[in-house]
Amino acid sequence: MASELEPEVPAIDQSLLECSAEETAGKWLQSTDLTREVYQHLAHYVPKIYCRGPNPFPQREDMLAQLVLLGPMEWYICGEDPAFGFPKLEQANKPSHLCGRVFKVGEPTYSCRDCAVDPTCVLCMECFLGSIHRDHRYRMTTSGGGGFCDCGDTEAWKEGPYCEKHKLNTSEIEEEEDPLIHLPEDVITRTYNIFAIMFHYAVEILTWEKESELPADLEMVEKTDTYYCMLFNDEVHTYEQVIYTLQKAVNCTQKEAIGFATTVDRDGRRSVRYGDFAYCEQAKSVIVRNTSRQTKPLKVQVMHSSIVAHQNFGLKLLSWLGSIIGYSDGLRRILCQVGLREGPDGENSSLVDRLMLNDSKLWKGARSMYHQLFMSSLLMDLKYKKLFAVRFAKNYERLQSDYVTDDHDREFSVADLSVQIFTVPSLARMLITEENLLTIIIKTFMDHLRHRDAQGRFQFERYTALQAFKFRRVQSLILDLKYVLISKPTEWSDDLRQKFLEGFDAFLELLKCMQGMDPVTRQVGQHIEMEPEWEAAFTLQMKLTHVISMMQDWCALDEKVLIEAYKKCLAVLMQCHGGFTDGEQPVTLSICGHSVETIRYCVSQEKVSIHLPISRLLAGLHVLLSKSEVAYKFPELLPLSELSPPMLIEHPLRCLVLCAQVHAGMWRRNGFSLVNQIYYYHNVKCRREMFDKDIIMLQTGVSMMDPNHFLMIMLSRFELYQIFSTPDYGKRLSSEITHKDVVQQNNTLIEEMLYLIIMLVGERFSPGVGQVNATDEIKREIIHQLCIKPMAHSELVKSLPEDENKETGMESVIEAVAHFKKPGLTGRGMYELKPECAKEFNLYFYHFSRAEQSKAEEAQRKLKRQNREDTALPPPVLPPFCPLFASLVNILQSDVMLYIIRTILHWAVEHNGYAWSESMLQRVLHLIGMALQEEKQHLENVMEEHVVTFTFAQKISKPGEAPNNSPSILAMLETLQNAPYLEVHKDMIRWILKTFNAIKKMRESSSASSVAETEGTITEESSRDKDKAERKRKAEIARLRREKVMAQMSEMQRNFIDENKDLFQQTVAEEASNFAVLDNSPMVSDTTLIALGPAQTQVPKQRQFVTCILCQEEQEVKVESKAMVLAAFVQRSTVLSKNRNKVIQDPEKYDPLFMHPDLSCGTHTGSCGHVMHAHCWQRYFDSVQAKEQRRQQRLRLHTSYDVENGEFLCPLCECLSNTVIPLLLPPRNIFNKLNFSDQPNLTQWIKTISQQIKALQILRKEESIPNIASSKNSENMDELQLPEGFRPDFHPKNPYSDSIKEMLTTFGTATYKVGLKVHPNEEDPRVPIMCWGSCAYTIQSIERILSDEDKPLFGPLPCRLDDCLRSLTRFAAAHWTVALLSVVQGHFCKLFASLVPNDSYGDLPCILDIDMFHLLVGLVLAFPALQCQDFSGISLGTGDLHIFHLVTMAHIIQILLTSCTEENGMDQETPAGEEELAVLALYKTLRQCTGSALKEIPSGWHLWRSVRAGIMPFLKCSALFFHYLNGVPSPPEIQVSGTSHFEHLCNYLSLPNNLICLFQENSEITKLLVESWCQHIEVKRYLEGERDAISYPRESNKLIDLPEDYSSLINQASNFSCPKSGGDKSRTPTLCLVCGTLLCSQSYCCQAELDGEDVGACTAHTYSCGSGVCIFLRVRECQVLFLAGRTKGCFYSPPYLDDYGETDQLLRRGNPLHLCKERFKKIQKLWHQHSITEEIGHAQEANQTLVGIDWQHL
Ligand SMILES: [Zn+2]
Ligand SMILES: [Zn+2]
Ligand SMILES: [Zn+2]
Ligand SMILES: [Zn+2]
Ligand SMILES: [Zn+2]
Ligand SMILES: [Zn+2]
Ligand SMILES: [Zn+2]
Repeated sequence: MASELEPEVPAIDQSLLECSAEETAGKWLQSTDLTREVYQHLAHYVPKIYCRGPNPFPQREDMLAQLVLLGPMEWYICGEDPAFGFPKLEQANKPSHLCGRVFKVGEPTYSCRDCAVDPTCVLCMECFLGSIHRDHRYRMTTSGGGGFCDCGDTEAWKEGPYCEKHKLNTSEIEEEEDPLIHLPEDVITRTYNIFAIMFHYAVEILTWEKESELPADLEMVEKTDTYYCMLFNDEVHTYEQVIYTLQKAVNCTQKEAIGFATTVDRDGRRSVRYGDFAYCEQAKSVIVRNTSRQTKPLKVQVMHSSIVAHQNFGLKLLSWLGSIIGYSDGLRRILCQVGLREGPDGENSSLVDRLMLNDSKLWKGARSMYHQLFMSSLLMDLKYKKLFAVRFAKNYERLQSDYVTDDHDREFSVADLSVQIFTVPSLARMLITEENLLTIIIKTFMDHLRHRDAQGRFQFERYTALQAFKFRRVQSLILDLKYVLISKPTEWSDDLRQKFLEGFDAFLELLKCMQGMDPVTRQVGQHIEMEPEWEAAFTLQMKLTHVISMMQDWCALDEKVLIEAYKKCLAVLMQCHGGFTDGEQPVTLSICGHSVETIRYCVSQEKVSIHLPISRLLAGLHVLLSKSEVAYKFPELLPLSELSPPMLIEHPLRCLVLCAQVHAGMWRRNGFSLVNQIYYYHNVKCRREMFDKDIIMLQTGVSMMDPNHFLMIMLSRFELYQIFSTPDYGKRLSSEITHKDVVQQNNTLIEEMLYLIIMLVGERFSPGVGQVNATDEIKREIIHQLCIKPMAHSELVKSLPEDENKETGMESVIEAVAHFKKPGLTGRGMYELKPECAKEFNLYFYHFSRAEQSKAEEAQRKLKRQNREDTALPPPVLPPFCPLFASLVNILQSDVMLYIIRTILHWAVEHNGYAWSESMLQRVLHLIGMALQEEKQHLENVMEEHVVTFTFAQKISKPGEAPNNSPSILAMLETLQNAPYLEVHKDMIRWILKTFNAIKKMRESSSASSVAETEGTITEESSRDKDKAERKRKAEIARLRREKVMAQMSEMQRNFIDENKDLFQQTVAEEASNFAVLDNSPMVSDTTLIALGPAQTQVPKQRQFVTCILCQEEQEVKVESKAMVLAAFVQRSTVLSKNRNKVIQDPEKYDPLFMHPDLSCGTHTGSCGHVMHAHCWQRYFDSVQAKEQRRQQRLRLHTSYDVENGEFLCPLCECLSNTVIPLLLPPRNIFNKLNFSDQPNLTQWIKTISQQIKALQILRKEESIPNIASSKNSENMDELQLPEGFRPDFHPKNPYSDSIKEMLTTFGTATYKVGLKVHPNEEDPRVPIMCWGSCAYTIQSIERILSDEDKPLFGPLPCRLDDCLRSLTRFAAAHWTVALLSVVQGHFCKLFASLVPNDSYGDLPCILDIDMFHLLVGLVLAFPALQCQDFSGISLGTGDLHIFHLVTMAHIIQILLTSCTEENGMDQETPAGEEELAVLALYKTLRQCTGSALKEIPSGWHLWRSVRAGIMPFLKCSALFFHYLNGVPSPPEIQVSGTSHFEHLCNYLSLPNNLICLFQENSEITKLLVESWCQHIEVKRYLEGERDAISYPRESNKLIDLPEDYSSLINQASNFSCPKSGGDKSRTPTLCLVCGTLLCSQSYCCQAELDGEDVGACTAHTYSCGSGVCIFLRVRECQVLFLAGRTKGCFYSPPYLDDYGETDQLLRRGNPLHLCKERFKKIQKLWHQHSITEEIGHAQEANQTLVGIDWQHL
């Protein structure tokens, strides 16, 4: 019983239509057992309405369901006609002040950065525009669907919770008011009854799991054998797999399979076969078999049709409930009650519970449906939102577990509702205290991460793909934790304290599992075999970062909580480090008479871990103790005595030593995983809770220790103790050359250790460590970023840590530290550091990476040099420490520190004997500087009686005791000051000495005795000046030398291509200068320049030399020499089109002879202007072709160009090309050898030409009737009377060399092939037409660009354009020599006949339908084919002139006929001029010819104005054309912009200034011509209003207008639904910027067939709208898309910028975006210039991944 797919709708069962809703409702009202009654009704009718065949008929089903099933319920609820009942309810309703609009996919949402409680609080567009937030700092995103507008939720907004619309209701609202009081009692009862039954029914049927059996009370009496084979969606199989499988399994077409797959993906399931059980079962087994190979099989069920029917109705019912409760908040309240009422089975038996608990078993469509119902009911009712939240929390563990094992995306899981509940502060607080939510979430999370090692730590090594998958899903729980914590409590109850601390305990348990995870051991000897897994642990750390910070924030809010948390954390840390001092024998370290005991531990030999979250949390809490002053207020409550400083510092120190050792190259064999870990450890995403906290922990520990002890322990951990405790250790090392590596290593370690000391003393910008606030901290970060270089806003944001609200706090301080520089046409807006902030620069800022540090150093030194300052970069003045950390400064003046400093300085002084490094010395100098700054600060801020105990200056002036009475530090510095090898550090040493003296003075002045010193300083001062001058001189010499060397270097570095470019440009320049000389030559300077005709200005022959870019040989362009060619790109174009609906239907039959004035499809030729020998190019192209073939065989790679289509890249500039144009001399000079003085006038000329044409026509006719009787043939010839001097049998010799001829054919064929999209055929008669057409079209498009930009016609044109136009015009003029003479003559005759009537042609277009410039070019370029056989003496120039005049006249008539001379009342005052009278007369004639169909116009002024305006583009194009054709230089007046140059153009073109004179001079013939033109039937139809015509001047095409605010585009796109799949939202709405069409891109639904291949909507559109090339805006990604052909595409930066002058491609940042008109114009210009394809080519060459994209699917 195989069922065919029936396209037509089966007939409707009449009994259904006769069903009366009122009657049924009446029956129900009477009934005693309503449930049974309703169920019977459903059991009977549902299967009659739904699922009657293989395909659903949604509209009919909905109609019948409303009539038979839902109607009765509505009647029942209302107790009357619902059409009256519901409006009544609606009126009585006091609507809620919540907006609650559920977002569609892609809809714009707005969040206020100033007022939203957290970033999840969003507004819909309507509410946003009506709110106060539109003037705040806001963020815009596109919704992923789901979620709703928070307008009206007072908990979501710190300010302005209502928009204007929702504010209206707030005044009367009392929160606790029961909405049921607005409902009549009986309605309440009835609603309750029916809601209870229907909601129950829906839940029961949707969660029903049997496949062929219904619930007993719904079972049918007679059961048919009709089943569905139901296919379910999963996130494992791809579209392609599903489509392929379906085609096989149910034997459907690909289109049908795509349809099925699309629905499955959207709704979650779709029946793919309908029929008896066996038939469906068979399809199922095929599908399962086909998809089970690699992964788990697709889910398929064979279900009885009645079950599917009831389920479909169940869904319908849910959406019906959702809409019914929209009438009244009372109804909604009832539904909530029904939903949450506990069922007979107790706990978890309410309908809501049942749905939630079955969530993961439901298909996608059912889930979304009930989630939406929940959102519009439970979440909109404040009372029930709370109750629902409790149910949700109680089921939390179960729901999350279901989600983790399910495979659907989070947005399709009920677990995703957590964001709606947990982010409401009051609910979150309630759930924490009453349901212990914090603990539940953390415990649930831990339950799902069971992979632990022996110590109970997480272990991700060797975890399976499934575990990885689960791990990814489990991470969403961390997000829940974040939601719960995101709004911090303002008040603490004891309950909250208790439950929070309970949660904190659980959290510590979690962190404990991370403490010490993924430990590493240094690999010696062999490299590790496998990179160990590290990413999972870091993912966890990264995800938890904000939670850890928020936990600290919570603790900071309550002293009791803080104290308890601190104790708990410390306890756990002690547990973790229980065995800290076990095992090994302690060792004793001693230096300078200090000694300390420590354990024996070597980072380089034992296990060490980067993960120390517990100690870092403790560090965070410790800072809070200091910041909140709890440490001073309640010291007795704190376990400070239990703290063991050596234990606190041990692990963080190991971690930092590890970093140092990795940097020193000691861990190379451990592979990249370790390098990556260390990278992330310092990275902005992690550092706040990793690196930063380690520094703080060390500061904490050290502040409680004797600094000498700490320094010794540190030396030991850095494994440097030996070096510093053994005198002359360094000397010994340097002498052992074999250990160069070790020396290097130790040097790096010493540098790193010094750096660490700098950080410990210098990093005071965390509030609580130093006396600073959060603003100071962020300011300092920004200053240091900007010290590297000026940065864009987004760059800065990226370098700063974001808090949980995605804020960096940057906006509030940036103005104080930076200037903003606006962006130009490209690039971004930039922030530059204010000069006064540079003094805050700390070279050893701890967040600098090494690269950043050296960049910053260089930049700052450069700045100082520019300001003519010395280049010392002394440490900045620092804020004081908080008391708890105050003792840290003593490190600087501790004995061991001084010892270390002295040792290193000693090495530097004896610089040859020891292993030391400049960086080492630089750090020591920095440390000394820090100490001096510190002492100076102390002295400046000292109170009256206090004694400054910081006496660094004194200590460094004392000679050292060990080793063996070395000189004082100061003395050594003085020595080093003059060391020639320390030039760079001199300024710094000088700065130190100066500061030292200043301190000395301060000390002395305080002890009031300072006389002897002055003398010394003076001498020092003067010697210093001298020294300075000397150094300046040397520096200047050095600079000059450097510049010279640099210049030489860069000269040498220029690569081959650049060299060639230069060469080329030289030749161009020479060429150009040749012209320039000619322009000034006396020959042409005096007379008026005339471009054509017998009076044409004679230009002396120029010799032209060009250099081949391939072989570098120079050659003269000559007629008989080898061809030189330009790389060129020919493309079809619709840029000038006035009619985008027109496409060439059948290119094989298309006749391009006459171009329609709508210019709907032209052929454009462009060139990069690079010259090659034809044979060199040929060789190059062959090699490209061969290479491409090899490459394609090897790895089916695409290239940016399509070799098979003749494409290649210009070998010099890589510009995309598809053919070459030969370089030629002005061709007219070759043929125009005859020059007679006595030339015919227009009338005579037309007569002669007409005779010649007639003769030719007869001749051709003869020829086409082959040899019937040759005698008769000649007879006719005699009869014909050949015009005088006309010799049709004469065939001129082609003057060109073979090579040039070949190239003429090559380019001609290419134009023909591309322009018509046909196979190449060099003999096709249309080839010459296409060549002329391309020449005309290209000139027209360039004329448009120049006019649009108000540029002069003959201004400085870019070289490449100039070369291109010249070659193209000359080529087109020479092409007839390689075509069949008779063919070209034929074209000429036909073109000529369109203006001068000839009976032989019946089907010629009327003058309204001819583009006159194309006609002119065609006639002029075809004319030589006729003229070459004419020996009567008419020169080519005469012909040109008459043709030009004739076409110009036709164009004037064209303009007069079509110009819309609307009366605007603006008449001119002055008396009518000559032109105006003439044109009025002409117009009168025209009216006569048209039988007065033209309306009367009394004033010639309007007419003349419109003629002038209308004809300008034509005149300009003609001027360009004749200029390039004949090589006459342009008059200097037209080379500058300004007035319209009408007169100059006329002179140049040999036209009278009063154009109408053309008609008057030849009145006899023109009258006839005008009459004949007006006689054409089409002209008559036009005048009678039956058709349209193009009017002149044609306006330039522009890209569509874009809105100023980007979000209105997003909104527009979100309202756009896919045109093919019935109202579905399009996933990738894409806007055509050329015509404004919105397309459903990159989707199966809207694929179209193009030449037998399925392509995406955009590609299909390019063919109709842009003949293959188009510009789009992908709205949701905010990206411009260029497409050309099927394989070419690229993304381009969008014309929308945020306030910081940056684009936001992919809309990641969400700053408001506004249209940048200049950038949009730039895109438009690319389009006008036909550069889209070229732009794509360059983009693809620059980024190879673009080549691999399947652009045709977009
Ligand atoms: Zn809203
Ligand atoms: Zn609102
Ligand atoms: Zn706001
Ligand atoms: Zn060459
Ligand atoms: Zn090039
Ligand atoms: Zn679509
Ligand atoms: Zn378009």
